[in-house]
Amino acid sequence: MNHKILEQYSEHAGPDVIEHLKQLVEPLIGLKVVHVNSTKLGGGVAEILDKMVILMRELGIDTSWEVISGEAEFYTCTKNFHNAIQGNRVNVSDSQLEVYEKTNAETAERLRDKLQEADIVFIHDPQPAAMIKYIDSRKAKWIWRCHIDASKPFRPVWKHLKNIISYYDASVFSLASFAQRMPHPVYLIAPSIDPLHRKNMDLNQTDIDEVYSRFEIDPERPIMLQVSRYDRFKDPVGVILAYRLAKKMLPHIQLVLAGGGASDDPEGEIILNEVRMAAGDDPDIKVLLLPGDAHLTINALQRAADIVLQKSIREGFGLTVAEAMWKNKPVIGGDTGGIRIQVVNHHTGFLVNTPEGAALRIRYLLSNPDILNNIGKTAKEFVRENFLNTRHLREYFTLFYAVLHNNIERIELS
Ligand code: UDP
Repeated sequence: MNHKILEQYSEHAGPDVIEHLKQLVEPLIGLKVVHVNSTKLGGGVAEILDKMVILMRELGIDTSWEVISGEAEFYTCTKNFHNAIQGNRVNVSDSQLEVYEKTNAETAERLRDKLQEADIVFIHDPQPAAMIKYIDSRKAKWIWRCHIDASKPFRPVWKHLKNIISYYDASVFSLASFAQRMPHPVYLIAPSIDPLHRKNMDLNQTDIDEVYSRFEIDPERPIMLQVSRYDRFKDPVGVILAYRLAKKMLPHIQLVLAGGGASDDPEGEIILNEVRMAAGDDPDIKVLLLPGDAHLTINALQRAADIVLQKSIREGFGLTVAEAMWKNKPVIGGDTGGIRIQVVNHHTGFLVNTPEGAALRIRYLLSNPDILNNIGKTAKEFVRENFLNTRHLREYFTLFYAVLHNNIERIELS
């Protein structure tokens, strides 16, 4: 079998990891897997799935990727589900629920043959979740993959969703703290980054020099960076406060805030204005508004930085943390969500709760360049071990074994 794409990961994940994947997939070759989500473009779920599907196919799993789509009211309903799972008190009307069920029933009908022939149906997030109700005499194992934080859902809406999810054979959450109790086995699988993506691939020094000159950043002076949407939960103003406090002792430091998507998000625009106000006329703060596909620019900025901050006060997984760590950067991150499983205090970065805490860690790292470099190196190895998409693939294969064997505790592979 040709493993051309998988082999490209050998350099990053290690040849033993690639070998292990080939062995692990052996008994799964020929398995029919259908993924269903709501989009093939945009957002982390589609980005991760895109490469997963390519790799699974190359490894001999008969994988297809289908999408559910509907009219405006369907998306209003699923957006409400999304917000309710994340804890917002939202009302989902009966007419929205009707459209949701109708869209799921129609999509199940359209995909009926495929879903009935499959061995595993992998449903991502709430949008296509109800399809399961419309496929009877199911041969496949159905897995519900929740990509969002379900730790404190809005109960009335969650109750409705949980009834649907109860039909499934297993659920998967990203972190223990995001999970909910279910009447079936629950698995934890963290997200991952793709080392071959334009956002993470190796760059030449000229690509990095290009961002210094494009954004008038001085390569001779330390650079602090935060890459995030302009969102209150990412606390960009707190980052500016931390920078200001650190700058009192280290006047030469610079700060870059890079984000995007503010123009079509009214809240984003408000936050961006607050950030610009907080930055004032300080020429050492660059507030950048980048287009959604500025992957190479983000990659280069992450490589140009000395320290990366992700001072979120609430966070999902926080892919930007793994991205920065992969580039040998120590991360000063908010003590929340997935940042907690990526930033190991004093080893791969520092967890902080306040601008003062972040400023203290900036000063500490910049005054101890050897420690800064060592933490950066450890951070990269930590990502190599835990947060590359090859680990993600391995865990999906292990999950397939588990559900195909009815989630028994011990599976003999001969
Ligand atoms: N990102 C981007 N452009 C931006 C800001 C962020 O491409 O202006 C990317 C970032 O590199 C990361 C993803 O979007 O890959 C954000 O994921 P994360 O989990 O950090 O935060 P989310 O936005 O999902 O809350």
